Amino acid sequence: MDIAVIGSNMVDLVTYTARMPQLGETLAGQDFQMGCGGKGANQAIAASRLGSQVLMLTRVGEDLFAQNTVRNFEENGIDTRHVLSTSGPSGVAPIFVDEQGRNSIVIVKGANDLLTPADIDAARDEISRCRLIVLQLEVPLETVYHAIQTGQELGIPVLLNPAPATPELDYARIATVDWFMPNESELALLTGLPTTTLDEVEAAARSLVGKGMRNVVVTLGERGVLWLSAEEKHLVEPVSVQAVDTTGAGDAFIGCFSHALVSGKEVLEALRLANAYAADSVTRRGTQTSYATVEDFRSAGP
Ligand code: ATP
Repeated sequence: MDIAVIGSNMVDLVTYTARMPQLGETLAGQDFQMGCGGKGANQAIAASRLGSQVLMLTRVGEDLFAQNTVRNFEENGIDTRHVLSTSGPSGVAPIFVDEQGRNSIVIVKGANDLLTPADIDAARDEISRCRLIVLQLEVPLETVYHAIQTGQELGIPVLLNPAPATPELDYARIATVDWFMPNESELALLTGLPTTTLDEVEAAARSLVGKGMRNVVVTLGERGVLWLSAEEKHLVEPVSVQAVDTTGAGDAFIGCFSHALVSGKEVLEALRLANAYAADSVTRRGTQTSYATVEDFRSAGP
């Protein structure tokens, strides 16, 4: 096993529309697609498509979405022994994508809210055989904190993607993570600092390094990526592409970065690969459907 992803799965309900609806407005959309998503699942699928052995810890509901989600994990070669079932609805994510490829998302966490610290303990043996733990914030915070603590006890590096950002995040309980990877708006919400200009992004990221965070990696959409630590500062320039749909670009980035790290790549090389992989994903519609396999990515020549 290479990577344990402990997090969410959702069913994406994607509506394509010329523009976003106003409050109270009914619009005729142009197209609709249903797909498997959720930040945890997306990151797991991206890493697995690139060749990592991925263990997924998540909860699905008891509805027509659950079977589909499990089958999707299996078809993508993911270890589903700890994809647990629970009564009630699965997580869903209604998504709007406009003509410019910009998105608005409402998530309903459903079964994801029932992933517990005990679920992590039940998978401790399998987790102990992994080389990286990958976390997001679509499951309860106590579960995230417990996963971080488990990683520390087992001596396994932990990557935390603090998304969706919440001001309730307790820095004292996440300070030991090795990789903290927000996007620019999450960084603004978490630090209370502006992140409009690159200088502001750097100052906000530096405030987290000042709080003891080892490595802060900020994904900046079409502006690329900033990596900051006490010793390092690198801006990885964006790969220029024609963006069609940026949904899930952050997850593509994290999945690829995780895969590159456990494959032994240097950090900068891993960041460049992830930057290219995520850029490639925004040239296609959808979330997981936009993630290249290792063969396709190689032939795209990053
Ligand atoms: P999501 O929440 O939809 O998963 P995000 O907002 O977390 O996305 P972004 O910061 O927008 O993630 O993008 C992640 C990475 O994807 C960027 O750092 C960059 O590498 C790549 N990327 C995103 N948009 C573009 C673009 N228009 N052109 C090139 N690369 C892009």
